[in-house]
Amino acid sequence: MNQQITLDIIGYVSSPYKEKFAIPRQPGIVSAAKGHIELAGQANNIELVRGLEQFSHLWLMFIFHGTSAQGWKPLVRPPRLGGNKKLGVLATRSTFRPNPVGMSVVKLEDIRVENKSVKLGISGLDLLDQTPIIDIKPYVPYSDALYDASAGFAQESPADSLNISFSSQAKQDLLKFHQAYPELEQLISQVLAQDPRPAYKSGQADDKRYGMHLHQFNILWQMKDLTRAEVIAIEKIA
Ligand code: SAM
Repeated sequence: MNQQITLDIIGYVSSPYKEKFAIPRQPGIVSAAKGHIELAGQANNIELVRGLEQFSHLWLMFIFHGTSAQGWKPLVRPPRLGGNKKLGVLATRSTFRPNPVGMSVVKLEDIRVENKSVKLGISGLDLLDQTPIIDIKPYVPYSDALYDASAGFAQESPADSLNISFSSQAKQDLLKFHQAYPELEQLISQVLAQDPRPAYKSGQADDKRYGMHLHQFNILWQMKDLTRAEVIAIEKIA
């Protein structure tokens, strides 16, 4: 039998991404995605983060809690390869791993205490809302950034693949929500530009109406042609 260890959850992520659909495949791609980590239990102590404000970026170690119950397989199909080539799970960043542990570098925006909770403001995240955090470490460029490293099928950051427009209804909706969510237009544009549809759909005619859940909004959108998506409306979810 394999040995097992138990880890403590040290915090939870509050993220604009309320469902898996449309979350970018890596951090740093959608800079307008802002959220925070709320430290929990014994880790909810400002002393744990003393000195962390000196660092611009953090490594987050977390649990893929939204998919962990689905188990894992030795071979997976990375979306970067169009979803039709299989690679070993450990050669990919798939969420379906022997241990459902993820790691992301995010920007540290601020550190604050609110209602007795320590909160770390972060941006550029690729994490589902309520993701459990098991560790946080400062990002150290001299050791963590390796400019001569090779990365096979993931050498380049994925280019934006779609142009985004907003219908007149969506523009009105943005105005209505601007005060509470001034960065909503940028967030929606950045999320859609990376084409959140399944890999096999890209470059294909597509008349489906999509919805995606960001913050407290259902964003309705549709492809206008092969490279252009239009936001139809932004509805507040009750
Ligand atoms: N940067 C991390 C890594 O390399 O370990 C995550 C990469 S993984 C390919 C990114 C995807 O994980 C996102 O597009 C989203 O669909 C999914 N994801 C993010 N948070 C999750 C969670 N808590 N549970 C399940 N899936 C999650």
